Amino acid sequence: MERNTFVPLSDWGFTFPSPLIISGPCGVESEKQIHEVADELGKLKVHLLRGGIWKPRSRPDSFQGIGSEGLRWLKEAGHKNNLPVMVEVANPKHVEEALEAKIDVLWIGARTTVNPFLVQEIADALTRVDIPVMIKNPINPELELWIGAIERIDKAGIQRIAAIHRGFSTFEKTKYRNVPNWQIPIELKRRYPSLPLICDPSHICGSRNLISSVAQTALDLNYDGLMIESHAHPEKALSDSRQQLTPAALKEVLENIVVRSAVIEDVMFLNMLEELREKIDRLDEDILNKISKRMEVAREIGKYKKENNITILQVERWNEILRTRLQFGMDHELTREFILKMYELIHDESILQQTQMMNTQPVDSSQFPVDSKK
Ligand code: PEP
Ligand code: MN
Repeated sequence: MERNTFVPLSDWGFTFPSPLIISGPCGVESEKQIHEVADELGKLKVHLLRGGIWKPRSRPDSFQGIGSEGLRWLKEAGHKNNLPVMVEVANPKHVEEALEAKIDVLWIGARTTVNPFLVQEIADALTRVDIPVMIKNPINPELELWIGAIERIDKAGIQRIAAIHRGFSTFEKTKYRNVPNWQIPIELKRRYPSLPLICDPSHICGSRNLISSVAQTALDLNYDGLMIESHAHPEKALSDSRQQLTPAALKEVLENIVVRSAVIEDVMFLNMLEELREKIDRLDEDILNKISKRMEVAREIGKYKKENNITILQVERWNEILRTRLQFGMDHELTREFILKMYELIHDESILQQTQMMNTQPVDSSQFPVDSKK
């Protein structure tokens, strides 16, 4: 990027404090809905009102956003409560309409950041325009793509730029809707220390109950602000209903959050550790699932052996297993001793399961000691 100093949020011309709190519904749904929530947010420590007008939804039958008429409602709801307003833009037409409606801040969504063609079109529409733009991370964990989008907006001459971290999508189910991968925004911050960084715990968490802890982590990592979705009646929200907070719940989150003055290395370390531990948890679950499936197959083999009256222990087969597994495991940086011990245990358990399958009488499992040195 050509420049490496960015305008701090405090100089954006809105008297933004630190941390900056952005809130508002996932989507503007009606004039009444946006006024109802904005009137409550106006009484809290919220500094910027958000509301999606055009919603990028995964499925075509979902609520696609109220469209252009919502711009006026959002602007009026903000004006009434002394709040500048922001919307998501995903193409030049959105930019044009948002500018016409005097929207104060624009943001580029995660599904747009992934597409350099679209980001460039938006950047082109912003040449010679003076409006702040926040850029969400792309849905995939690719820092260069995020930086590329920021660069395109920067090259268009936009002065007030911020990045929003909203987590990254994974195929695996995790407790988060989008895993935080803290190391990615941390690396962004390392490369561009003055670039304002906002965390969006709502889209990271996907559910209300996790929001306060992710918000706290972000502030402990010295983020400059938070974007938290809110709705007067979250259960009736037309999009992202599970993650939106009522203004009362948001108030509680904001009251309980601790704003610390400096980043402690330890917090970064602890968060990394927590992420790695979660990875281990998922891998262990996989291991146990696979072992249980293996035992299922062993029982099935037991059934065939019984029908055909063959002995359980087939020594050649056992030797063959040990030989191939040792080879495979050692090729994958496991020690010989570990593989031997583990396979002895697995084999013992397999035999126990097969024996149980072949005999109607209960088998005493203590004859298969879980000690590899037997
Ligand atoms: C949103 O902010 O409502 C939104 C669609 O977010 P994201 O682009 O992060 O999915
Ligand atoms: Mn949303």
